[in-house]
Amino acid sequence: MIRDGKKTGGGRRQIVSAALLLTVALFFLPALVVWGEPVYQRSEVGDLPGGESALPINRTPSVMTTGTRDKGRAVRLQTKEGEVVELTMEEYLWGVVAAEMPASFEEEALKAQACAARTYTVIRQNSGSEKHPDADICGDSTCCQAYIERSAAEARWGLNAGEYGEKIDRAVAATDGLGILYEGKPIQALFFSSAAGKTVDAVEVWGNSVDYLKSVDSPEGDEVPNYRTQVVLGAEEVRSLTLNAYPGADLSGDPSGWFGEASRNDGGGVISILLGGVTLTGGQARSLFSLRSATFTVTWDGAQFTFDVTGYGHGVGMSQYGANAMAKSGSSFEDILTWYYTGAQVGELW
Ligand SMILES: [Zn+2]
Repeated sequence: MIRDGKKTGGGRRQIVSAALLLTVALFFLPALVVWGEPVYQRSEVGDLPGGESALPINRTPSVMTTGTRDKGRAVRLQTKEGEVVELTMEEYLWGVVAAEMPASFEEEALKAQACAARTYTVIRQNSGSEKHPDADICGDSTCCQAYIERSAAEARWGLNAGEYGEKIDRAVAATDGLGILYEGKPIQALFFSSAAGKTVDAVEVWGNSVDYLKSVDSPEGDEVPNYRTQVVLGAEEVRSLTLNAYPGADLSGDPSGWFGEASRNDGGGVISILLGGVTLTGGQARSLFSLRSATFTVTWDGAQFTFDVTGYGHGVGMSQYGANAMAKSGSSFEDILTWYYTGAQVGELW
């Protein structure tokens, strides 16, 4: 493209440069808009916590797929524009995997994501939703799960569109009809971006204990983009954010005494922390100060508060970067899913 531009003069060169910039911008766009994480990562993965033997490696699939089950099922999707469209399960899952996980990830990780998305979808189809009674599911990740149309995803991937599109085709087809089951029933297949060494027990985040959503080791680390982040806030910002949400907090004294000692889980995540005499859960503190996860420390240096944060997401269920790290170490999608969803099995949904 650049050589062509040089041959055909300045005007063409500008157009070509603009096209290149656009391609680059479109390639990164899904990372920013759809998923919130850059798609690039280092090729090396650090040592697994507790040693590699702590994680299973077994590539033998226990369930055979036919490649035709998802084609025979319909999904009524409410798009972000509010329109209800009917897709085959196969088409729909392609768009969910493309929106929810970087397509640069290992195929076994993409397969695990396809199974989680399929399981989530069947739960939604069975339960219905008051927010969109005419659709099984919507494309809003804050309500259901993210979805992107194939043409939009491929435009964003630019030069990688062919390779990435086919990878996701294979991930969906190879797991045709498969979901994650606990005691024979589809599970709440929660997932998130990256953990700080361990996933979080559901009881810590939502107060309800779920047999298959326990804390387990998760192998990702500093190869994850933005794995460690900082949020720096002045005392007045902390005071106003806190008092808006928790008017009963007492922040009248010196800022050095506002935060109490946090109680932490095994992975270093904050279970609870005192702030001006009010006890916040880690999740509440995360939300209050817009932290990427509840695994954080907070320090006051006399002028400002610094939150040092590790990982991204609520921490419950499957870690997507952990799934990718396991896949790189030789784990199959079944290994990944049964690792993150304690006591669950991969089985046929239809
Ligand atoms: Zn929804």
